[in-house]
Amino acid sequence: MSHLADTDPELARIIESERVRQVTGLELIASENLVSQAVLEAMGSIMTNKYAEGYPGKRYYGGCEFHDQAENLARDRVKQLFGAEHANVQPHSGTQANMAIYFSQMECGKDRMMSMSLTQGGHLSHGSPVSFSGRLYEVHQYGVDLETETLDYGAVEEQARKVRPKGIVCGASAYPREIDFSAFQEIADGVDAFCMADIAHIAGLCAAGIHPNPTGTVDFITSTTHKTLRGPRGGFILCGADMAQQVDKAVFPGMQGGPLMHTIAAKAVCFQEALRPGYRDYARQIVRNAQAMAAVLDDAGLRLVSGGTDNHLILIDLSNRGITGLEAETVLGRAGITVNKNTIPNENRSPFVTSGLRIGTPAVTSRGMKEGEMRRVGAWIARVLADITNDAVIREVRGEVEAMASQYPLHPA
Ligand code: PLP
Repeated sequence: MSHLADTDPELARIIESERVRQVTGLELIASENLVSQAVLEAMGSIMTNKYAEGYPGKRYYGGCEFHDQAENLARDRVKQLFGAEHANVQPHSGTQANMAIYFSQMECGKDRMMSMSLTQGGHLSHGSPVSFSGRLYEVHQYGVDLETETLDYGAVEEQARKVRPKGIVCGASAYPREIDFSAFQEIADGVDAFCMADIAHIAGLCAAGIHPNPTGTVDFITSTTHKTLRGPRGGFILCGADMAQQVDKAVFPGMQGGPLMHTIAAKAVCFQEALRPGYRDYARQIVRNAQAMAAVLDDAGLRLVSGGTDNHLILIDLSNRGITGLEAETVLGRAGITVNKNTIPNENRSPFVTSGLRIGTPAVTSRGMKEGEMRRVGAWIARVLADITNDAVIREVRGEVEAMASQYPLHPA
C-alpha cells in the first residue's frame, strides 16, 4: 500500500483504520467473508485497465486475448465446481445476476413472479416494492409457516396454483434451514413456471456438498461470489446449455456494459480455491461453528428462529428480551462484535429497527476459529445482551474479543 500512502494519505488512513477494525473485531455478518491474499492480488491487478465488452472469442474491443483466457478460466472452474453446463461470470453483483434471469424470462409490466418475502428471509431483489424487481413485475410472496418458522412447500404449491406465476424464485438472505430445491422445481413445473434458485448465501456450502447443490435440479441458479464462497464482490449465473444464449444476452448487452475483468480474474481464483480439497473442510466447519454458537445462545435463553440452524447463520428473536435488533446490533458493535439487525417471521417493527439479529460464521471460520472459539463468542453475545446498559461488561467483552481476534490471521491460507 506504499503508493497509496504517498498519493492519497487521507484514503490510505481510512483503509488502515478499516484494516484494524477487521483484525481486532469479530465479523459475524452472515453475508460477509474474508478473502485470500491471492483474491486480493487479482482484484488489485492491471486486469482493471481493459474494456472487454462481449464474451471470450467475441469481444467488441481489441487486445482481449488474455481477458478471454481469464474469463474462460473463471467459467470453466465454476462449471466444474457446481457441475453446471453453462456459466456466466459477468454479473457485477447478485442483484444483477437476478435481474438477468428476470429480463431473460419475463416481460416487464406484464408477468407475475413468486418469491420469499423480505421480512421472512427473502432478498430485496426478489420483488420488494423498493427494488426494480417489485416495480417491473407483479410479485406474489410466500413466507414461512409461523409455527415451525420453516418453509411450507404445500402452502407454496397452493399459492402457485392460484397465482400461476411465470417464475418462482427460491433462496434467501436470512433462512437458517436447508432449502428443498427439488420441491420448488416440482411446484414450478406443475404451473409451467421457471424456477430460479438464488444461492448467494449458501453457495460455498452447495459447492462443497454441505447443502444440496441445486445444479441439474432447478432451471437457473444465481449467486454472489462474496459470501460463503469467499471470493470478490460479484455475481454469477449457472444454467443448462439450452438457456446459455438467452442468459448471456440478458447480461450483455441487456443490462451491463464492460465486464469488471479484475473482478472476474479474482472470481477465477476464488473458484480454484473452492475446488481444492481443504475447502470442503472449511464449509463443513462454517456449519459446525454456527451450530456450536447456536447451542450456547439457546442455553442462555435466547430464542432462535426455527429452533436452530442447518447452515451458516443464526436468527435470534429478541422480542421476549425487550430489546430491538437495532439496539442489539449497536451494543454488540461497541463490544467489537459486528452483526446485523434483521426482521424475523411475524415481525412488527420497521426494517430499520427490527426484532431480530442475524449472526453468521463464514468470516470467523475463514480466520481459523472453531467450535471452542464459537462457544466463547456465543457466551459473550449472551452476556452483552443480558444487560445492554452495562458499560463495564461491554468494555470487558471488547477486551476479550480483541485478545482472541488478534491471535487469528485476517486472510485464509
Ligand atoms: N441474493 C441474496 C439471497 C442475497 O442475500 C443478496 C445479498 O445479500 C443478494 C442476492 C444480492 O447481492 P448483491 O449485494 O451482490 O447485489
